[in-house]
Amino acid sequence: MSRLALVTGGTRGIGRAISVALRKAHYRVVANYSGNDAAAKEFTAETGVPAVKFDVGDFAACEAAIQKITAEHGPIEILINNAGITRDTTLHKMTPQQWDEVIRTNITSCFNLSRLVIESMRGRSFGRIVNIGSINGQSGQFGQSNYAAAKAAMHGFTKALALEAAAKGITVNTICPGYINTDMVRAVPEPVLQKIVAKIPVGRLGEPEEIARCVLFLAADEAGFITGSQLTVNGGQYML
Ligand code: NDP
Repeated sequence: MSRLALVTGGTRGIGRAISVALRKAHYRVVANYSGNDAAAKEFTAETGVPAVKFDVGDFAACEAAIQKITAEHGPIEILINNAGITRDTTLHKMTPQQWDEVIRTNITSCFNLSRLVIESMRGRSFGRIVNIGSINGQSGQFGQSNYAAAKAAMHGFTKALALEAAAKGITVNTICPGYINTDMVRAVPEPVLQKIVAKIPVGRLGEPEEIARCVLFLAADEAGFITGSQLTVNGGQYML
């Protein structure tokens, strides 16, 4: 039987492209989402990939979902921590709620889900964890102290867990997309978006499928020597 992948936020945007790419590559896939039932229903109807609703920021909800997924489909061998949100505003206007929502959804989620699958991965001596970071966690971004903090924290998390898990055949990596053509970016006001695109050397937004390709690469059995790394995919906008 092929390996089972869980893609958080896997029904829309980048996550959807990841779910579809993994499925096309003959992995078994379960996608997660949080609230948009209509999008999830349409996704499952189109792709045949089951969608499971739970909040990645809620440990108890994640635990119940992982137990159910495992009982129905078997152990999760590939975890893609992709779910993420923005609540943009400058720090002097940011509410504790805007801070907390972004931290729990973007980084506490990585703890929650990785914690819940790591023992089974260790037991099977195989695992792939891919965290979806952001260019703005690398460079910082005006109005995104919450989001940049969460995405930057992902790198420390990735490297520490990569060290802990390496001897057990588990790799942990982060992909840092630049600006990608999804609902999240389409929500940016048009004049701001035009200024952003003007700063991308390749002269366009990225497509979700371009991130999905990178996930496939890192999720492969053959990628066992790549761990603790940061793969930057941003059209040349920010070079480390
Ligand atoms: P979208 O807003 O298009 O999709 C987000 C997905 O995450 C949806 O499926 C959504 O579910 C799900 N989600 C949101 N909150 C939760 C939650 N609490 N629990 C479970 N699922 C949740 O986002 P993108 O595809 O644009 O972004 C995907 C990832 O890529 C994010 O981590 C983002 O930070 C990162 N990224 C995106 C960039 C971009 O330019 N788009 C650039 C750099 C990084 P539902 O449909 O139910 O709302």
